[in-house]
Amino acid sequence: MEKLYFTYNQIHSTMKDLADKLAKDNHKFDAIVTIASGGFIPARILKTYLSLPIYVIYMSLYSDETHQMIESVKNQIPVFSHPDSDITGKNILLLDEIDDTRTTLDICSKFLQNKKPAKLVVASMHNKLVVKSGFIDSSLPYYTGTDVENKWIVYPWELLDINEIK
Ligand code: 5GP
Repeated sequence: MEKLYFTYNQIHSTMKDLADKLAKDNHKFDAIVTIASGGFIPARILKTYLSLPIYVIYMSLYSDETHQMIESVKNQIPVFSHPDSDITGKNILLLDEIDDTRTTLDICSKFLQNKKPAKLVVASMHNKLVVKSGFIDSSLPYYTGTDVENKWIVYPWELLDINEIK
């Protein structure tokens, strides 16, 4: 699959665009919940604009009745990084770096909805232009920094050699 590279500067600008979109709609949040580990740096940049604490969800592979690990995103369960990450009654922004098949945002938004936040808004920095297999509840506002082509996106924090980005 063809690759598409983004620089830290491009990512920072896209997160500012996302922050502007949220501000334009007057959203107020108590916390950002981001998904490890791709969401870490976008969440940190967003914090610069929104001044919010960051909670983290780790996706953990679960085992079925036969206790076999199922190596599929669909069969992962979200777990909070910290017991203090109680979101009940809070205004929460769920953020991931990229919405590809939407499976992860589907699972994580349902996980958070079950915890009864006062408000839940879903956001991705990049929305890949592909047919989605996951769903975000239509009652949840959804924002994206920008749409991206259906290519494999390479983020700068994944590179061993940052000079690979021309
Ligand atoms: P999903 O398919 O569930 O929307 O995406 C799940 C996760 O897979 C994303 O949070 C991201 O970590 C990873 N992912 C999906 N597509 C890409 C891509 O094009 N590039 C990179 N680096 N990660 C991706």
